[in-house]
Amino acid sequence: MASRRPKARRCADSVTVPLAFAFAGDRGEGVLFRTVAVTAEADRCGTFLCFTMEFDFDTHIHTPLCGHALGEPEGIIEAADERGLRMITFTCHIPMPDDSFGGRGIRMRREELPVYRRFVGEAKRLGEARGIEVRYGIEAEIFPDEGVMAQMDEILKAEPFDFVLGSLHHQLPAYHTWLRERGLVTDAEVIRHYFRHLEAGMHSGRYDSVAHPDLIRLYGTLAGPFDPADYEEVIRGALRAAAESGSCWEINTSGKFKGQGPHIHPLPEIFAWAVEEGVAFTLGSDTHAPEMLAQGFDDARRLLDNHGVASLRTFLKREPEERPVTARAAS
Ligand SMILES: [Zn+2]
Ligand SMILES: [Zn+2]
Repeated sequence: MASRRPKARRCADSVTVPLAFAFAGDRGEGVLFRTVAVTAEADRCGTFLCFTMEFDFDTHIHTPLCGHALGEPEGIIEAADERGLRMITFTCHIPMPDDSFGGRGIRMRREELPVYRRFVGEAKRLGEARGIEVRYGIEAEIFPDEGVMAQMDEILKAEPFDFVLGSLHHQLPAYHTWLRERGLVTDAEVIRHYFRHLEAGMHSGRYDSVAHPDLIRLYGTLAGPFDPADYEEVIRGALRAAAESGSCWEINTSGKFKGQGPHIHPLPEIFAWAVEEGVAFTLGSDTHAPEMLAQGFDDARRLLDNHGVASLRTFLKREPEERPVTARAAS
């Protein structure tokens, strides 16, 4: 037995293993430990190897500019380093023209954009010293009324964002009013419209990824429970739009911590349809405090693992990068 570990380490130096081949449990927060049988290498080594699989990036991070998040650049970079993150993308809420999209407690004002830019710049400077790449992103709005999108579009055009998330924050007064004015009150009507609006958002070309795609199940806009099976057709419509347009859907782990069911976004059934439709995925914790970075990433790993998804996508200067989700040897 004593000779096993050195053997395993020697093999491990030259082996990376697609996540889909891995099995067994996980330990730790944000860092995934897998015990895998590597067919070729196991034959040579005659042993099982212990691998570490890391998501070393988090691409949905808020700052105090949105009025409901905590953390300064220093603390966020420190927490990212502690969690083994090597790339983080800030995505604070984009300014919108009026308070029906939330006032100061929800999003920065347009004149505060330079402050946000400086915040990210400071994090970038601090990150460089620790080998952490910091990117400049934004959480933009998906909304059915093009009339209110002009200011947002100006910002998207003017700011040198690396990554643009699209969110339909149905819980905000703007969307409630939109629905009410059209007499859309039943859960079925609301759910169908929500996913049709995501579909239109995917086709708009504004967004690199749709954030927390099944957010409609949370925050009380619906009177009853949400069962994706009742809405498969309309959900698949939005998924096909994503696949056709090259927009991603986000695996957003914050859903697990919102107190209304222990599930990350999207639900497993929806994730399975997304895989079938050929949608690519981004990954974000939607953190509102440094200690929430990479929260729930173990659940994201399980979702990917269960469906044999072996890569995720990140964005730099709005260009997609494919990130193979691979395991590497634990040191
Ligand atoms: Zn959001
Ligand atoms: Zn967010």
